[in-house]
Amino acid sequence: MTMIRNYDKLIFELSKEGRTGYSLPKNELSQYSIAALPEGLQRSSKPELPEVTEFDVVRHYTNLSNKNFGVDTGFYPLGSCTMKYNPRINEEMCALPAFTTLHPEQPAECAQGALEVYYNLAASLAEVSGLSAFTLNPYAGAHGELTGLMIMRSYHIQRGDFKRTKVIVPDSAHGTNPASAAVCGLQIVEVKSTANGTVDVEDLKPLLDDTIAGIMMTNPNTLGIFETEIPEISRLVHECGGLLYYDGANLNALLGKCRPGDMGFDIMHINLHKTFSTPHGGGGPGDGPVGVRAGLENLLPNPQVKKDAEGKFYIDTDDKSLGYVSNYLGNFGVIMRAYTYILTLGRENVKMVGPLAVLNANYVKESLKNEYYLPIECVCKHEFVFDGLADKSTGVTTLDIAKRLLDYGYHAPTIYFPLLFHQSIMIEPTETESKETLDEFIEVMKLVAKEAIENPDIVKSAPHTTPVRRLDETTAARFPKVTYKQMKG
Ligand SMILES: *Cc1c(COP(=O)(O)O)cnc(C)c1O
Repeated sequence: MTMIRNYDKLIFELSKEGRTGYSLPKNELSQYSIAALPEGLQRSSKPELPEVTEFDVVRHYTNLSNKNFGVDTGFYPLGSCTMKYNPRINEEMCALPAFTTLHPEQPAECAQGALEVYYNLAASLAEVSGLSAFTLNPYAGAHGELTGLMIMRSYHIQRGDFKRTKVIVPDSAHGTNPASAAVCGLQIVEVKSTANGTVDVEDLKPLLDDTIAGIMMTNPNTLGIFETEIPEISRLVHECGGLLYYDGANLNALLGKCRPGDMGFDIMHINLHKTFSTPHGGGGPGDGPVGVRAGLENLLPNPQVKKDAEGKFYIDTDDKSLGYVSNYLGNFGVIMRAYTYILTLGRENVKMVGPLAVLNANYVKESLKNEYYLPIECVCKHEFVFDGLADKSTGVTTLDIAKRLLDYGYHAPTIYFPLLFHQSIMIEPTETESKETLDEFIEVMKLVAKEAIENPDIVKSAPHTTPVRRLDETTAARFPKVTYKQMKG
């Protein structure tokens, strides 16, 4: 009988007493032996570390990484997340020693290159969005929302208008919108969507009065639909004294086509880790730049990067600023990737990103709308939402479909979001996927829909090929076991 080697053994289980992978070289500090430490600081037992060879460690981590699913291993149509290809040149630029060896406390005189990257990227984002100035300091989209809302509040307070404590948020908004508003100390007023998925202007009108600080809008919204009433909404909200905030996490769809600044928005955030590449997922890394229209620049958070008359970059603070939202100047690795991405594509090709993302999304939507229920018929932008299977008679749910896709080697789409439908499946293919990849995905989605009718049990009990089957996802997220001891105990 042949024995199959179990590569799932954890590194602690491979441990053999006395085995080592690496020995620290002797140096002049070795005279400070354990005995030289004060009594109370000496350890009384050996640390509980696995005793393994370097080769064991290499195999352990390589096998772990093979279990991971990423954009670099397969199609990742996770709606709302824009999981596009991250060009390798981005990584090369980030790894340049001139950047990796910089210290955040280094004086501006000897960090001119990094400050130039920050300054130029902020200027590019201002051009792409039609706004006046950007900070790159916030670390994520949600952090950008909070920063933007703090700007909105500071704007009203600095005018001596203290009544404006409410912010309007559409019912289709990403969960971070009301969460950021609450963290900022604002009350949330919900505005409804019409049957075609856009903000209902008639529902908005009676909400507008002198307690409204502003409105948060996402465009295209979380249904992947362009908000056509923006000029009217902009007029109404500005007339009542409020500001317009643009959640720009979905900017990919509009890149090079139209600009939030031209639509009348005052403040916006951009997710560098969505629209401008960066391998993200599992919570990071990210960066959420915030832009403002002319007249609001002073309110941006400190520190700010400026350029003097001689072309030298310096770090400045502004008295009118809302203060600090992060210690330093943003997540530099993500900033560097976004800057490289923009320069690599160039002005002409940046304009192709939006149209291609929209084309891919509509191609997948139209190819699957007989098998899956499309609740709103329209030309979508970069993503779209199905409300489960067209034929739900066998009881197969969106969760089952998502799990079955794992068996076929696909990352699942976003499910049960947005909350407007009971069985949401949100698909975002991005512009970097080929027609062949999209066709293969369409074929698999059709196959799963067929299985759901002919052999529903195989879909309901999926996944069958993954290292673990269906997990208690709430417990996994709330009480993750991240150490060997936690797993065993
Ligand atoms: C992703 C996303 C956010 C939040 O961005 P994070 O970087 O995950 O904090 C906000 N709004 C929309 C529409 C998004 O898609």
